[in-house]
Amino acid sequence: MAARDRGGMNLDAVTTLLADEPAYRTRQVWEWTARGAASFDEMTNLPTEMRRRLADEVPFSTLELVHEARSSDGTVKALFHTADGHPVEAVLMRYRDGRRSVCLSSQSGCPLTCTFCATGQMRFRRNLNEWEIVDQALHFRRLEPIDHTVFMGMGEPMLNVDAVVAAARRLPDLGVTHRRTTISTVGWLPGLKRFVDEVDEPVRLAFSLHAPTDALRSELMPVNDRYPLEDVLAEFTRYFGLRRRKVFVEYVMLDHVNDSPAHAHELAELLDAKVFKVNLIPYNPTGMYDGASRERIASFKHVLDAARLPSTVRLTRGRDIAAACGQLAAESA
Ligand code: SAH
Repeated sequence: MAARDRGGMNLDAVTTLLADEPAYRTRQVWEWTARGAASFDEMTNLPTEMRRRLADEVPFSTLELVHEARSSDGTVKALFHTADGHPVEAVLMRYRDGRRSVCLSSQSGCPLTCTFCATGQMRFRRNLNEWEIVDQALHFRRLEPIDHTVFMGMGEPMLNVDAVVAAARRLPDLGVTHRRTTISTVGWLPGLKRFVDEVDEPVRLAFSLHAPTDALRSELMPVNDRYPLEDVLAEFTRYFGLRRRKVFVEYVMLDHVNDSPAHAHELAELLDAKVFKVNLIPYNPTGMYDGASRERIASFKHVLDAARLPSTVRLTRGRDIAAACGQLAAESA
């Protein structure tokens, strides 16, 4: 596995170092880590000598924290560097009802070029490995208990399915059940098909749709030319058939681009209300568009309501620190 080459708090490095010790030692290390320990030294049920060897030879995280920003709404954005110097951002969102949700990156940068998203403007570096993803969540787990994760940070998760799924499978140990993990995708079909075929845990899927027709979607998201809507929607429907979990459709509201009542009617025609639930996303400024007004969002939602297609409007978090959806571009990197 690639993670091993780069070292870090990957359990493989611990397993290798403790090869001559009973297997439960590695398990103890992971239990401490997953519950938020900040160093090997805190792992008091390990012999002192073993703790020292671990501290000397295994970096505690694969990621180095470079910068942290706090929003007035309680959101925290962390910028990390991988051991080979690539920027990665993750965000902790705190909600009034006590929910603590971590937004994870699956790649450093993103090779897709969605016109409204800041991440697409930065240079794509590489896929993250399993531990570089888990370490983002562990960083915030050391701050406080977390109960939700969304793969909605930098990158396209379905271009990096193996590492994303391996990381997602570790999250219950950190306190995040599979039902509270959501993986968001543009509908990259090869990865999505593998996910639907191979992952039987009840992890939720979200689909970044943003337009009700192929023509408009291709303008906003060049990836649509490769995998047209009909094929992608069919794959999500297959997922619903197998797992019985609704797919969340993300739809970013761009002023006079995709936000008219006519677009809403087309959307209601396109989506099966049994399979999909729509999340309307106020546009977070990245310089490319104007966001739809509150009134236009309300009229759009009204059409969906009348057509009985379930929808909600996403609560915007962390805009003042450029931590909101689509704003992750590692500015200070
Ligand atoms: N590549 C995956 C994972 C990133 S998720 C995907 O696209 O689904 C990030 C979400 O934020 C996506 O739904 C994306 O379309 C949305 N987004 C991107 N730019 C945005 C912006 N400027 N304002 C609001 N949402 C945005």
